[in-house]
Amino acid sequence: MSERGLYIHIPFCSSICTYCDFSKFFYDEKKVNEYLDSLQNELDSYSIDNIQSIYIGGGTPTSLNIIQLKRLLKMIEKYNKNFVSFTIEANILNLDEEKIKLLSDYHVTRVSLGIQSFNSKIQNIINRHHSFEQVKMVIALLNKYGINDVNGDLIYGFKEQSKEDLLNDLKLFTSLPLTHISTYALMINKHTILGNSNYQEVNQEIYREYYDLIVSYLEKFGFKRYEVSNFSKDNYQSKHNLLYWNNKEYYGIGVGASGYINNVRYDNTKSLNHYQKGKRRINEENLSDNDREFYHIMLGLRLERGINIDEFNTLYKTSLLDKYSEKLKSLIADNLIVIEKGYLKITKDNFYIMNFILRKLLF
Ligand code: SF4
Repeated sequence: MSERGLYIHIPFCSSICTYCDFSKFFYDEKKVNEYLDSLQNELDSYSIDNIQSIYIGGGTPTSLNIIQLKRLLKMIEKYNKNFVSFTIEANILNLDEEKIKLLSDYHVTRVSLGIQSFNSKIQNIINRHHSFEQVKMVIALLNKYGINDVNGDLIYGFKEQSKEDLLNDLKLFTSLPLTHISTYALMINKHTILGNSNYQEVNQEIYREYYDLIVSYLEKFGFKRYEVSNFSKDNYQSKHNLLYWNNKEYYGIGVGASGYINNVRYDNTKSLNHYQKGKRRINEENLSDNDREFYHIMLGLRLERGINIDEFNTLYKTSLLDKYSEKLKSLIADNLIVIEKGYLKITKDNFYIMNFILRKLLF
């Protein structure tokens, strides 16, 4: 059986970000205890083995108190025997030394910090408040307990954000001992606090300009783009996310989680109430060979290195280049796609229009 990933969703947060469109709820001690019971039930409903990477995301997993966090880590301890990476997402303001020591005791190898921005204008807009010194101190503590692989999330694309503001954030991010930076362009979704207040997005030209600026700045500081929005120092790519982009299987556990197991892609309910009653899955998609090829291309082209053509052909008993020859011919002629050293990939300067290229190729 091939190696798989395990994703666990903790939907509780101690404060709510104004742009957030995820499945999340305010932290409540009793609700968290009940939720941990339900997580255990869902984990027990699978025969989980051969786990290559574990990712605890949210929400804010570190909003749990120390007893709950220990219970969660103990619950999944048996799955992390042969893993190569174990990530947990964290909020700077609720990650203290006691919790960091606990994460280290349970072999967490990587922590993803929701930094977003150091700019007070932006922090006020998104409702996230921490100082550069606080972030620096948390990373120093993580390093002290042997957790050296640290990601920082960076958000951009606010109408109040000048180019200088973004450059200043980039300067501060790259001055920290981070190994990985994930970037997010602000998108305003309905039913978020910003959406309800009719907050306007910036125009596409500004997104494009800021994206290009991020790519060139981060590359200068040794953070190579390996996926459209993700940058890492050498050998610090996110192993867990690579599993998604390489179209590998993973268990998705928890409210609002998605998974891909035994050729079925599924989504869990976003209703905490339903989840607690054991009504978990709301969508299931049984994949045909064509569907698997579709996902493989859609996800694989997100990667800077692209799709390994031989691997694709062997996996699906087909020829990628023959099957899409007409569409590829025109995308290659327009210099949007290139074939290099056995990989099919998007050309370096065209990642920003990845969705347009995928539509041309797949539809
Ligand atoms: S963005 Fe993350 S931390 Fe903020 S409210 Fe949403 S889930 Fe919670």
